[in-house]
This record gives sequence, C-alpha cells and structure tokens, in this order.
Amino acid sequence: MLFDTHTHLDQAEFDANRAEVLARAHLLGVTHVVAVGCTAEASQKCVDLARLHENVYAAVGIQPNYVAEGRPEDWSAIEKLASSPSVVAVGETGLDRHWDFTPFDQQQDYFDRHIRLAERLNLPFVVHMRDCDRDIMEMLRAARKRGLLKGIMHSFTGDAIMAAECVELGMHISFAGMITYKNAKPLRDCARTIPDDRLLLETDCPYLSPEPVRKVKPNEPSHLRHTAERVAELRGVSLEQLAATTSGNARQLFGVV
Ligand SMILES: [Zn+2]
Repeated sequence: MLFDTHTHLDQAEFDANRAEVLARAHLLGVTHVVAVGCTAEASQKCVDLARLHENVYAAVGIQPNYVAEGRPEDWSAIEKLASSPSVVAVGETGLDRHWDFTPFDQQQDYFDRHIRLAERLNLPFVVHMRDCDRDIMEMLRAARKRGLLKGIMHSFTGDAIMAAECVELGMHISFAGMITYKNAKPLRDCARTIPDDRLLLETDCPYLSPEPVRKVKPNEPSHLRHTAERVAELRGVSLEQLAATTSGNARQLFGVV
C-alpha cells in the first residue's frame, strides 16, 4: 500500500479519465492520494474531489507563483476551505525565485499566512521550494520559535544538510520522481539520510513522471510505485517495508485512519 502525498488531481490533464486514473492507482497499490490546490479555485476543486472519491484527501492553499494573480478575497476562501472535513493539509505554499510571477515580499507574506493557518488548525503545511533554500530556511526557523513544525518539504531537491535541519525543525521530507533520474545522484544520497519516521513519497502528478515511464505524460498516482522501488533499493529495504513506513508516516501526519 502506497500513499501519494502530493498530486494535482484537480487539473485539466485528468478531466477525461480521473476515475480511471484513481482505479488504476488502486490496482497498483497506491491506495491513498492527496489532491493539492495551487489557487483558491483549484483548492475548492480538490475539496470537491475528496468528497467524491474514497481515499482522496485535499490540501488547500495558494502556490507562490499564483499569489499575485489572485483576488483579494481568495485568502479568506482558503481560510474557510481549510476547515472542511476532507482537508488534511494547508498548501501548497512556499517560495520560488525561479519564476518571477509574484513579488518576493508578497510570497513571504503568503508563506507566513499559510504556516500560521496550519498552526491554528493543527494541520501540516506543504512547502514548495525553488532556487531559494536560504529564504525558506529563514522562515522555517522563525516559525519554529513558536513550536515544533508540522509540515512537508514537497518534491525535495535540497541537500542532506538542509534535509537534516528541516527534520530537526519537525518537518517531513517528500521525494518525487526526480529521484529516479540519471543525474539525480546527489538527491539519492540525500534520500538515504532521512530518518524512517520522516520519509514521504509523492508523484507531484501531472508533472515529473519517474523513470522508466518518464516519457509518459501526464504523470499519475499509479507511477508512484517506480519511485518507491527506487527509494527502497537505495535505502536497502524491501518495497513492502518502504511502503509500510512511508504510508504509515503519511497517515499519521494527515490524521488519516
Ligand atoms: Zn505541487
């Protein structure tokens, strides 16, 4: 049994065959899926999907690259949605210096809002990071002053030193399909160092198809098995063992029975 902790199941790529995609995932042992929103509208869709499909859960938030294009009332929509019974996390949030869609101080403001909302609801927050490791760590350290953090470094691409500090702050580390790519040796080295109780897996579908299905687009939850096999191999455990560990972590973190 595998738990896909990060998908964009709401997106148009899945409109034609969403139920089929979920059935295929289930058949291949990917039994639980979190649908993560990037805008207020997408977050509403994720909540609706979680209501409709068994073992689908929602995360609600505004991804940093979409903050600037949002309407002022979007944030209160997220705050309201976050209390829906199917919501298991706040996000995705975080910081991004690769794209320049949202002024950086506005990204920081929204990252802070998401963290505080998650704290108020005792939910984990989901962190997107791109080209801004130092800025992310600064904000996580600041938040840690209020208490141990509860959150996920999603599609983690940092090094082992950063991962160790995130774990120390209370965070979980989630790996996506990139870990299967030929040039990702540093990421594989990092994945070996994550403590058992903080390790998570995700597809981040429809993006980041893992090897050997890298050319298959869109990526989908059933492909999580390839990433899991690779992570199990490099940690020297069986696939069954890794599946039990990572899905146990996800269930505990999300409060899913
Ligand atoms: Zn995402």
